[in-house]
Amino acid sequence: MGDDRAERIAEFIEPLRVEPGSRVRLGEDFDPGYKAGIRKKEDGVELLRSGIELLADYQRRLAAQDTYGVLLCLQALDAGGKDGTIRHVMSGVNPQGVRVSGFKVPSDEELDHDYLWRYTRELPRRGEIGIFNRSHYEEVLVVRVHPENLRREKLPDAARGPDVWQRRYREINDWERYLSDNGFRVVKLFLNLSKEEQRIRFLKRIDVPERNWKFSSADVRERARWDDYQRAFSQMLSATSTEWAPWYVVPADHKWFARVCAAAVLAHTLIDIDPRYPEVSDAARRELAEVRRELEAEAPEGAAADPYAADAGAGERKREKKHKKHR
Ligand code: AMP
Ligand code: MG
Repeated sequence: MGDDRAERIAEFIEPLRVEPGSRVRLGEDFDPGYKAGIRKKEDGVELLRSGIELLADYQRRLAAQDTYGVLLCLQALDAGGKDGTIRHVMSGVNPQGVRVSGFKVPSDEELDHDYLWRYTRELPRRGEIGIFNRSHYEEVLVVRVHPENLRREKLPDAARGPDVWQRRYREINDWERYLSDNGFRVVKLFLNLSKEEQRIRFLKRIDVPERNWKFSSADVRERARWDDYQRAFSQMLSATSTEWAPWYVVPADHKWFARVCAAAVLAHTLIDIDPRYPEVSDAARRELAEVRRELEAEAPEGAAADPYAADAGAGERKREKKHKKHR
């Protein structure tokens, strides 16, 4: 990775990062329409394409190294663009290295456990990128805005007092710290949509028949609680942006820009991990050479002993020739 590119990505995402310990007021501190001065959508699309290539390369190395895992948590208001972000940003990576988990209203079985249980079960393995489409943060968002959810969680009386939210923030921070200390990086994105853009996207879901399935009348009821959600998001961002797992507030009114940002934050994490292909020891290299001799000896008559090496050699000679020509 050229240091330049890494530096440009770091600079690009810096304005989105919630400084640990800072107090966020969403409406004032972050603009859902921000585009970092990129005027044309086409420029953003080009940027996303190169981001996707970079992610694919890093993901291969992450898997080969098999030491670190990455957990990407996506939170948003309804119609914030979580699904499309996942579809676009992950479009270049090997599906075998990615696991996507969505979280809905908890099941009876899930309610029979502590609240982090169901999220723990979906954590990525080493070498994988796990994506949470909604995450453990619902436990301080929808559960906070609608306290009947908390009642369903069957907590003992002592554990559901007014300090429950502060306690959950601490427990979530501790859990994420534990994960990151053990090689699992937690990346958190909040797709920040304006109320007007949500209105427009809801109308589109109603007007375009193929999108009707995405619309639920519950979404309109949630919209009526807009201010409560803004407050819950602001408090959550303030309390759970940490050095080991900072929040990034992604401006989401322009879908293409949100996707560029998501790819950039994920790329930044992978660049920081800097996964490497495992080194092959001298002994293993000698063994490979030995096996190659055996396989070459098995070549049928008239066949090249090692067509791949012949090809690779030809490629190498061609590159050399081209290089000389250009000198
Ligand atoms: P969707 O992602 O649109 O399919 O909707 C999933 C629904 O599940 C949303 O209305 C969420 O608010 C709800 N949900 C997700 N997690 C929880 C939770 N822990 N407790 C209660 N409701 C939840
Ligand atoms: Mg929905």
